[in-house]
Amino acid sequence: MKKELCKPCAIALENRGKTVKAAGGRCEKITCAECGRRRFGYTYEVTGWPHRRKKEDMLT
Ligand SMILES: [Zn+2]
Repeated sequence: MKKELCKPCAIALENRGKTVKAAGGRCEKITCAECGRRRFGYTYEVTGWPHRRKKEDMLT
């Protein structure tokens, strides 16, 4: 899913276990999809894991 995010929110999402990849190379004025602020940021491709697997499941 594509999202316009400011850098702190992109990092926060990543810390929450999402994969966040910058989709464009330019820093633009965007409205952040997470914090709702109008600031400079990027368009990111955000992917997560809808089915979180436990370590045990991955071993079997
Ligand atoms: Zn933000």
